[in-house]
Amino acid sequence: MTEAYEGGCQCGAVRYRVTGEPAIVYICHCTFCQVQSGSAFAMAMRVSAENFQLTRGELKSFVRQGENVNLACSFCADCGTRIHHVPDSRPDLVSLKPGTLDDTGWLRPTVHFFARSAQPWVKIPDDAEVFEAMPVGGVMTLVDEGR
Ligand SMILES: [Zn+2]
Ligand SMILES: [Zn+2]
Repeated sequence: MTEAYEGGCQCGAVRYRVTGEPAIVYICHCTFCQVQSGSAFAMAMRVSAENFQLTRGELKSFVRQGENVNLACSFCADCGTRIHHVPDSRPDLVSLKPGTLDDTGWLRPTVHFFARSAQPWVKIPDDAEVFEAMPVGGVMTLVDEGR
């Protein structure tokens, strides 16, 4: 992995650049993420907000009220491609939607959240770290552990 990587939305209006160390990549099987992705799960990559830079276009966002945390969910104003989520309690933390990166071949999700609502046909790799739901403190727990 190089030190800077770029990505963007489906229509091309939004482009971004991320610098810094490769971060933890995780998958969430919760029903919200299933709706958000229009699929079986969502993938996210935690990056530090100061390492995320919008280089073209503009994002729109809405706030999803969660049980423990409110998430600002941002997407391309033109095509709606979800770009990132930011928890209101941790504005320094960006959960990037890494499927929007130009190069996704290096992504290796190592943590799975909400395994209890995973679709029954989804096979979670044996070497993954698996949580039945979201641990108290959420993804921030992993951050605080230095991952
Ligand atoms: Zn777009
Ligand atoms: Zn989720």
